[in-house]
Amino acid sequence: YTGKTSTQLLTENLKNIYVKDYQSLPVVVNENVSVYDAIVTVFLEDVGTLYVVDNEAHLVGVLSRKDLLRASLGNKDLTSLPVHIIMTRMPNITYCKKDDLLIDVAKKLIEKQIDSMPIVKETEKGLEVVGRITKTNITKAFVELADGD
Ligand code: ADP
Repeated sequence: YTGKTSTQLLTENLKNIYVKDYQSLPVVVNENVSVYDAIVTVFLEDVGTLYVVDNEAHLVGVLSRKDLLRASLGNKDLTSLPVHIIMTRMPNITYCKKDDLLIDVAKKLIEKQIDSMPIVKETEKGLEVVGRITKTNITKAFVELADGD
């Protein structure tokens, strides 16, 4: 018997769960694709958020469902509106690394009021998108913690 309270044990477990254990595959689009094509991608790939990259495959922006809905209001021609016009752009992107603790990412999602963040690898030339972490991933970790996996 360790003499630890259940809260202490839970805290210890939480500090052993990393982003890399629960990540999903990222869905990325080039900054020059149209809003129309981005919306089609959201349906085809069944994701809520797209990450936007430049021609060197470096992270430049984020597109949420609401960003795309907002751009769709009115009579704009969505096939000739590039996503870089409407995306949330760097340096205002919240991201994480695969070796970050999942609990820290969960806190950041709440603090920034966002549903997901890209997992990146830093290179000399920019940020490479290697994964995606969402509220759904974190909910799954939460359930597995309860089931004692
Ligand atoms: P939705 O807009 O569909 O509710 P979010 O809550 O995730 O989805 O996004 C809210 C706003 O925050 C959007 O404008 C989106 O572009 C932006 N956003 C989403 N994820 C991030 C992120 N990781 N870093 C910075 N901004 C983000």
